Amino acid sequence: MPVITVDHLIGGRRIAAGARTSSVYDPASGVVTKQLPLADSSTVRAAVEAAQEAFPAWRSTQPLKRARVLACFQRLLDERKDEICALITAEHGKTVADSMGELQRGIENVEYATYVPELLKGEHSRNVGPGIDTWSELQPLGVCAGITPFNFPAMVPLWMWPMAVACGNTFVLKPSERDPSAPLFIAELALEAGLPPGVLNVVQGDKQAVDALLADERVQAVSFVGATPTAQYVYSTGAAHGKRVQALGGAKNHAVVMPDADMPATIRALVGAAFGTCGERCMAISVAVAVGEQTAAALVEGLKAEMGRMKIGPGADTSCDMGPLVTRTHEQKVRGYVDKGVAEGAELVVDGRGLAVAGHSEGFFLGPCLFDHVKPGMVIHQEEIFGPVLCVMRVRTLAEAIAAINSHPYGNGTCIFTRDGEAARYFSDEIQVGMVGINVPLPVPVAYHSFGGWKRSLFGDLHAYGPDAVRFYTRRKVITQRWPSTGASERTAFSFPSSQ
Ligand code: NAD
Repeated sequence: MPVITVDHLIGGRRIAAGARTSSVYDPASGVVTKQLPLADSSTVRAAVEAAQEAFPAWRSTQPLKRARVLACFQRLLDERKDEICALITAEHGKTVADSMGELQRGIENVEYATYVPELLKGEHSRNVGPGIDTWSELQPLGVCAGITPFNFPAMVPLWMWPMAVACGNTFVLKPSERDPSAPLFIAELALEAGLPPGVLNVVQGDKQAVDALLADERVQAVSFVGATPTAQYVYSTGAAHGKRVQALGGAKNHAVVMPDADMPATIRALVGAAFGTCGERCMAISVAVAVGEQTAAALVEGLKAEMGRMKIGPGADTSCDMGPLVTRTHEQKVRGYVDKGVAEGAELVVDGRGLAVAGHSEGFFLGPCLFDHVKPGMVIHQEEIFGPVLCVMRVRTLAEAIAAINSHPYGNGTCIFTRDGEAARYFSDEIQVGMVGINVPLPVPVAYHSFGGWKRSLFGDLHAYGPDAVRFYTRRKVITQRWPSTGASERTAFSFPSSQ
């Protein structure tokens, strides 16, 4: 297969600058399919320059016209979704159905951004003083940047730039270097929809490109999604350069299974939530907390049986439930965690390490793994594995389950399976986690609510997409106005103005 070069997109043109390159793989075959130029600081500067130049005209384009461009873009995404999903699957490895799900969630974020004329309406107060009116406006910031992870190459960029540009900003996107083609293709569709050149730019790259964006004083705000150590670094470095930053990090999501849960439905939900996208989701359920020994025994037996029915193979094969991991390095890292769990004394009930996928011996495959008797403090419980590994912890009470979750450093998502409304309400009140499901395994908020975890899963104040995105990508200005009028006082006032 010929190796293709993926480009940057700067000022509406594709550019292949960069002395360094990195390889993009087909995870199902292990073959290098593309070369990616890695932007150096001069390429990043050129992208920021293009965004800066495009800002004054885009800022003064009527919000309704900006919304119409996004509405057209939404239609194009819908028309071209098969091509986009094929690109996601070819570079990420997830199944096509899963790519469709991710893209659909991204499209819903674009749809929400088309409501921007309504969302940007400020507040108005008449007669705050004699003949004086006050109102507030939400104004764009200028050039914003987005740095995104490999696991949602279409959806996470669509969490960010559509709302940023809808609000009148211009944007530089730095997608993951592992699966860069879908975000580039999508950015070109935005140009086709009528987004003026320079309003959205894409730079391909790694840490060097990120550092250049963080240091550039023209970049006003940075949205980041990725692993917690990177999130913390981006947050502190961006803030030190005076930028507004939101940095979403990693996760370890627990599902509490109560004795009264609908067990067959819970088992199906857990297997889908743990092994969908090969466990490479920040909302994946990676720990099931069984309350009571009988619950645990039924749960483990049921999970084992359901996992035995899973079909693992290339994401492009529509009969498969789970594809490969994204890279060889990541596959080896996840295998290392399975070895570690065994060494730590957890019981490996289902061992996926021996999986062989016919015709794909070089692919980055690992079968689903299930650990039982996992204890708080074990490395496989403390750290994010980000692969097809589900841990079962056994506790005696709901209070014990809540204590184990609340003492964990991550706080992205969690859920409870129960028929007891009182227990569910107590759980959602007491749990220190940002997104909570009640009999819903993946409580990823819809586009008109915002997404974000607590503790080490998010650095910054505002969550991603939804109403918080409007707040993040705008600055509030409050204007107080009086026009010359008859009867106004002719005395000079030295006291502080008040309503007395
Ligand atoms: P990552 O942190 O390795 O990379 C994310 C981005 O940061 C990429 O664009 C990458 O090029 C860049 N980057 C990597 N190392 C860097 C460094 N040292 N300095 C500056 N930039 C750097 O994350 P990933 O492996 O691509 O994605 C998986 C992680 O993302 C998981 O931890 C997952 O939980 C997390 N994630 C979180 C959410 C959320 O909403 N909280 C959503 C999706 C993924």
